[in-house]
Amino acid sequence: MFDKILIANRGEIALRILRASKELGIKTVAVHSTADADAMHVRLADESVCIGPPAARDSYLNIPSIIAACEITGADAVHPGYGFLSENARFAEVLAHHEIGFIGPKAEHIRIMGDKIEAKRTALKLGIPCVPGSDGGIEDPVEAKRVAAEIGYPVLVKAAAGGGGRGMKVARSEGELEQALGMARSEAKAAFGDDAVYLEKYLTKPRHIEVQVLGDGRGGAVHLAERDCSLQRRHQKVWEEGGSPALNAEMRGEIGEICADAMRKLGYLGAGTVEFLYEDGRFYFIEMNTRIQVEHPVTEMITGIDLVIEQIRVAAGGALSVTQDDIRVEGHAIECRINAEHPATFRPSPGLITYYHPPGGLGVRVDSAAFQGYRVPPNYDSLIGKLIVHGRTRNECLMRLRRALDEFVIDGVDTTLPLFRTLVRNADVQNGAYDIHWLEQFLEAGGLDA
Ligand code: ADP
Repeated sequence: MFDKILIANRGEIALRILRASKELGIKTVAVHSTADADAMHVRLADESVCIGPPAARDSYLNIPSIIAACEITGADAVHPGYGFLSENARFAEVLAHHEIGFIGPKAEHIRIMGDKIEAKRTALKLGIPCVPGSDGGIEDPVEAKRVAAEIGYPVLVKAAAGGGGRGMKVARSEGELEQALGMARSEAKAAFGDDAVYLEKYLTKPRHIEVQVLGDGRGGAVHLAERDCSLQRRHQKVWEEGGSPALNAEMRGEIGEICADAMRKLGYLGAGTVEFLYEDGRFYFIEMNTRIQVEHPVTEMITGIDLVIEQIRVAAGGALSVTQDDIRVEGHAIECRINAEHPATFRPSPGLITYYHPPGGLGVRVDSAAFQGYRVPPNYDSLIGKLIVHGRTRNECLMRLRRALDEFVIDGVDTTLPLFRTLVRNADVQNGAYDIHWLEQFLEAGGLDA
């Protein structure tokens, strides 16, 4: 087992990894930018190292600084969390070169799944159903038109290097295709430095359903059911729940086993998420994330399995603590992403938290690094916490969530709490009757004003 883990991240996920490390009796090192000197993960870690100025590229993305911090502190492994360097294959390789463990998948798997064209090709080979689309990258408008005519409009142009919903453009007809292609290409170039794009059938009313997997890197793998992340704004998840209101136990087992089997064939190591769109009873693979995800607590609440501890165990060469037969889904869980943003305009709202009171009680979990007197810096993602609620049934979970949201007080900055208070009382949400477009349509129709 590792002796000392350096956490190459910040905010709630840094705290989450710190908690898992402590439970395993492993020492912790926090790294931080100058903007995060007073952050909770820095306060609670055994040691801390300042790795640079506020800009992420000079601190949390600065590989030489992080390696130096490992060497100074004697950390023998790094947990990258999500975002930042978590899906950077070169980072995993540099760590290996320095004989420091990487708590994540093998570099080759990060690389394959980081290129969505390669990822789809691999998924097909492994027996995972995919969205119909181009075979590989699309080079020119003529080719695009030929493929689009084959799969039928509307189509979606997507960036091979995509992430965070960027570099995606819909074309509803041939007339729109050339422009969509150009726009997706330039957005992809600007965001990822790579203008490769591909074409996919645009599904008009799908749900986003993703399967959590864990692999031991030696051909053993399990699935831990699914999360439904259909409530999205600008292709970004807002509310996640498990199990999906659209699936029954049999469907859950079927898609889960397809994913676990694919991971066994791949020899996948660590935690991963296989993401699908789900429409008219069919699953369509869109991508795989080779890291722990923001919404992982949903799965932890319904299975009782600590995903970060499992990540650490297998990264250290150990076995998973569970077999597929040990994994049972109990009850229902919902996560709300609390952002320091205006609840209607979604404008970021950094600043001082003047009062902070999180909810508690049975089945209520708050993963957050916020506290009274904490200043939310303007330099990073605006996620300041996650409220995760568990109940024996979806209905119990919704009632508990409503109560927990009403109890939650964060003063000084705007937050998305009021959005969730509205959503939890909405009939469509209560009935689980939503697809990936529901939230945007609800907001456009002025749902928050009602
Ligand atoms: P990213 O890596 O940028 O998050 P994804 O491929 O995971 O990109 O897609 C993000 C979201 O975009 C999905 O959850 C879904 O809402 C939408 N999306 C992606 N592909 C399609 C598609 N073929 N049809 C309709 N919506 C899609």
